[in-house]
Amino acid sequence: MSSGIISAAYIAASILFILSLGGLSNQESAQRGNLFGIAGMALAIGATLIGGTPVSYALVIALMAVGGAVGGFVAARVEMTAMPQLVAMLHSFVGLAAVLVGFASYLDPAGHFVGAEKTIHDVEIFLGILIGAITLTGSVAAFGKLQGILTSRPVLIPGRHLLNLAVAAACAWLGYCFVGADSINGGIWPLLAMTILALIFGIHMVLAIGGADMPVVISMLNSYSGWAAAATGFMLANDLLIVTGALVGSSGAILSYIMCRAMNRRFISVILGGFGTPEANSGTIETGGETAAVSASETAELLTSAKTVVIVPGYGMAVAHAQHPVSELVDALKTRGVTARFAIHPVAGRMPGHMNVLLAEAKVPYDSVLEMDEINGDFPTTDVVLVIGANDIVNPAAQEVPDSPIAGMPVLEVWKAATTIVLKRSMATGYAGVDNPLFYRENTRMLFGDAKQSISEVLSTL
Ligand code: NDP
Repeated sequence: MSSGIISAAYIAASILFILSLGGLSNQESAQRGNLFGIAGMALAIGATLIGGTPVSYALVIALMAVGGAVGGFVAARVEMTAMPQLVAMLHSFVGLAAVLVGFASYLDPAGHFVGAEKTIHDVEIFLGILIGAITLTGSVAAFGKLQGILTSRPVLIPGRHLLNLAVAAACAWLGYCFVGADSINGGIWPLLAMTILALIFGIHMVLAIGGADMPVVISMLNSYSGWAAAATGFMLANDLLIVTGALVGSSGAILSYIMCRAMNRRFISVILGGFGTPEANSGTIETGGETAAVSASETAELLTSAKTVVIVPGYGMAVAHAQHPVSELVDALKTRGVTARFAIHPVAGRMPGHMNVLLAEAKVPYDSVLEMDEINGDFPTTDVVLVIGANDIVNPAAQEVPDSPIAGMPVLEVWKAATTIVLKRSMATGYAGVDNPLFYRENTRMLFGDAKQSISEVLSTL
């Protein structure tokens, strides 16, 4: 096939990817966005297969079939609560691919250049492997933190900033040695040494970040995986991979910035591996006193006698699969003339947009779902707030305890409502591991139990 047709297919695929990103920015058009993405990827793979010269088409197709089958099987079975872990693993694969392609490209005898071209190619390889290795181990560490295999608290090694600085300086020096080397034997050692340092740095960077800051890490690793793919595109001289990688890299960077703003964190502090994170064990919160438990029937009574109700969903709603009964509850309240709306914190759950996806699945109308900034001012005039499996995002310690790990993070000010009912199973902390003084407030009632079961009981009383 002529290179002109391949280029046209690549341009069409790039346009489909841009339309896909545009579609994904809004719930109503998200499905269409996904379809554009699938069409773009099918076109991109088809054009690359036809335009490229693989050693064996049979081998490529067999490998794609195995990879596609494993990916399809895992994606079809994954629980909604485990989606963030799946995304973290997929990011690690992009990082691994960049590392492998980088080494293959360096060792490939057909890909040797001279003069300025060699320098440019070497820089592409070095940066591709550097970003890929950080993405690889950073994403594996993020997977461990999200899965609960690794602690969600920040692991702060003494002198960690100096250590990071030393790693950065060592990588710069190794880069200089690598680009200056005039043979593969001379270049491979600095390249290997940098790869090992980058792999260690990826783990260290993510471990140093506290649970509450993990949303920024997830979107940042998403961005890194895009830049790793773009670097791979440069190494392979594949324009589409460069464009696609740059799209993922820049949209991930924008998402990280939005997450940082939503959490009142400095982007640079977070990407430098928890710079400014309070030392471990700081932020101990004085909680205590009595909690007031409430039953499902009392909750139903409070809800039906209210004029305005706000529902705050959190990670526990996803765990309990409570979105469908919650949606039914809202319908039941609306038919009784109660104004019921949802308040969504930008980092509720375990991935950006987690709650919006669950509520959309339960067919909650989009106009009842409000962002934190739109609804935070309404709590003082709200009769009842139902906090369903949320904890960190409604923790007043963020405003009241200056040395708390979540200090400064904007939270939903649910305690300002006349009555706040918290649905959870125990007094356990949320993902950030911070105690929550909300549970001891005078106007707070605790409805203990699994959220789905509790809401179903409230519904049956109604
Ligand atoms: P939290 O993790 O703070 O709290 C969830 C609460 O749900 C827990 O306290 C738990 O209490 C309760 N819960 C769990 N299972 C059930 C159940 N079956 N029924 C009822 N309750 C249940 O969640 P939030 O949504 O409030 O906050 C999100 C946190 O995750 C933030 O710290 C955020 O920074 C972090 N994070 C967010 C990401 C994102 O992109 N959105 C990514 C990574 C981290 P109990 O065990 O007592 O029931």
